Amino acid sequence: MNRLPKNKIFRWKNKNVSEAVYLKRKSASDRMKRKIESVRESTEFSPVKKPRLGTRLVNLDILRAGLKCKTCESVLSLNDILETRMIGEAEQYKIKCHNCLDLNDVYTSDYSNDKNGRKIFNINSRIALGAIDAGIGCNQINKFFADLNVPILNDHTYKRHERIVGLAVENVAKKSCHDAAQAERHQTIERIETLVQMV
Ligand SMILES: [Zn+2]
Repeated sequence: MNRLPKNKIFRWKNKNVSEAVYLKRKSASDRMKRKIESVRESTEFSPVKKPRLGTRLVNLDILRAGLKCKTCESVLSLNDILETRMIGEAEQYKIKCHNCLDLNDVYTSDYSNDKNGRKIFNINSRIALGAIDAGIGCNQINKFFADLNVPILNDHTYKRHERIVGLAVENVAKKSCHDAAQAERHQTIERIETLVQMV
C-alpha cells in the first residue's frame, strides 16, 4: 500500500484533511483562542459578581483620599472592588487599579495602630464612646443598626473598643480630677496669702 509519509498527514478532529484545510482551521482556531484570552483578561477588572455595598457609616474624606492608586496615582473606582471586609463598622475594599492592575486597600474610616500593630478604627471607637455616653450597650446599638440596614456590630469588636475608650475616658477623668484638685489648692493658697495680708 502506498502510504503518505507521516509528516505529510494533516488531521483535524480525528479526520484526515488537506494541508490547506488544516492551516485554515488552525489559523481560525488560534484566532478564537486569542479572542477568548483577551475577553478573559478584560473581564478581570470587573468580576461577574460584584460585592454588595449597601448602607455604611463612611468617612467620605478618608474614602475620597483612599481612592487613588498607591502605585500610579490613577483614580480608583468603586466599580472595581474585588473584595470587601467588615472590621466592626469600618470596611476594607480591595480595589484593582484599571491602569497598572495593582491591588489597593481602601478603608472607610481612619485608624491608628495599637502596640501590637492592629488597626483601631475611629468609627468603632466613636460607636463605643457614643454608647457609653448614651448609657446603652452593644445589643441596643445593633437594634438601631438593623433598622438602618447597617451591618450589625460583632460583640467582641464592641467590647474591645469599649475597653480602649473606657481607659481613655478614665484617664481624662483622672486628669481633670487632678487639674481640679491643683486649681483648688492654688486658690486656697492664694486665699490664705490674702487672709494673712489682711491680718
Ligand atoms: Zn495604578
